[in-house]
This record gives sequence, structure tokens and C-alpha cells, in this order.
Amino acid sequence: MSKQLAVGKKLLFVVSGPSGVGKSTLCQNILETVPDIRLSVSYTTRKPRANESEGKEYRFISQEEFEEKKAVHAFAEWAEVHGHLYGTPWSELEQNGQQFQSDILLDIDVQGAHQVMSTLKRAVSVFVLPPSLEVLWQRLSGRATDAPEEQQRRFQKAQDEMKHYPEYQYTIRNVNLEQAIWELRAVIMAERVRTVHLDPAQVFR
Ligand code: 5GP
Repeated sequence: MSKQLAVGKKLLFVVSGPSGVGKSTLCQNILETVPDIRLSVSYTTRKPRANESEGKEYRFISQEEFEEKKAVHAFAEWAEVHGHLYGTPWSELEQNGQQFQSDILLDIDVQGAHQVMSTLKRAVSVFVLPPSLEVLWQRLSGRATDAPEEQQRRFQKAQDEMKHYPEYQYTIRNVNLEQAIWELRAVIMAERVRTVHLDPAQVFR
């Protein structure tokens, strides 16, 4: 994908890591506690969970609709995760070629994050690690809905994904949720006050 995005002075934060490390809980907390940041709402072909609503966590579409969007290059990135398709539409990152008025948070898998980091060089990347492999296994094997082979497959996939952590600018180990939230907040705040983001015309205002 060669499309370049006019992100301007607004920041794009990519939060990634294996499934089950608590990315969405972390991101949800950031949305509630940090001003001027919004979540990019992805399209997915998976069915909504009981607590999810259309347009809030995701936009739920059929496989055919997803393929149609892919064909017209509607996605900045997309990936298949555990048998379902997920994609970030360009429309979440820009509007008629104009940037949005707030920073953007992307909660996406490792394959999608890789695509975003190579397309949008200005993206700030954050990898979330589990407390340990043992705890990750406990979480995955505790999901009664998954068959033992599926649990094993997800555990292997998570370990393969964890090998990608060096490609990210920041790494947060989610041992304690409060601490991890503070760390992600600190990344966002520090990135916001980087001198390079300051408009020189605003210095002596
Ligand atoms: P869940 O179905 O549990 O909400 O999400 C499964 C995985 O898909 C999570 O790792 C989540 O970060 C990832 N994901 C959610 N939206 C997107 C997206 O638009 N693109 C990609 N590549 N991954 C996504």
C-alpha cells in the first residue's frame, strides 16, 4: 500500500500484541481518561458479543461486504485473526483527505500493526506483552469456549507474535492493569509534547 496519509500534527497510536494480553481494556481506559483521543472503529466479519453494539466496538459486516471493501482499497490495513477478518478503514484515519481533530488509537493485531507501521511512518507503536507465558497460557486455556487444540494453537500464535516486539517503539508488560494504563498514558502524553509537533507560529503567541 503506497497511500500516504496527511496526519498533520495529530498522532496515531498503534497498540498491538497477542490476543488475550488486555489491549482492548487498556485502550478503553485511555479513551475514558485521556482527552482528545478517539478509537478507530474497525470492520469485522465476526459476530457481535453480548456486550457489543454496532458502530461502538466494531462495524459488523458479512464476508462479502468485507471483500467488496477490500476490492476498492477501503482499508488502511486488514488481517485474518482466528478465522475472522478485521480491517481499519481509511475513513477512520482521515475524512475527505482532512485529518481529524483528535489523536487516534488503533487496537489491532500484529499483522495489521506491521502494515500500518510500514505505510504510516509517523505512527507511534506500542507492543503489549503478557505478564508471562504461564499467565498467558492460563488465560487462553481458561476459555471454556475453545477446544484444547484451539487453545494450544492460540498459545503458539501468541508466542510467534511476541517475537515481533523489537519492531515497536514502546513495550508495555501488562502485569498490573493500573500500572500498564499509567505507562500507556505516559507514552501518549510524552509523544504529545515532543518539540517536533509544536507549530513554530504558536511558540510566541
Ligand atoms: P476481538 O475479536 O477479540 O475483539 O479481537 C481479536 C483481535 O483482532 C485483537 O487482537 C484485536 O486487536 C484485533 N483487531 C481488532 N480490529 C482490528 C483491525 O481493524 N485490524 C487488525 N489487523 N486487527 C484488529
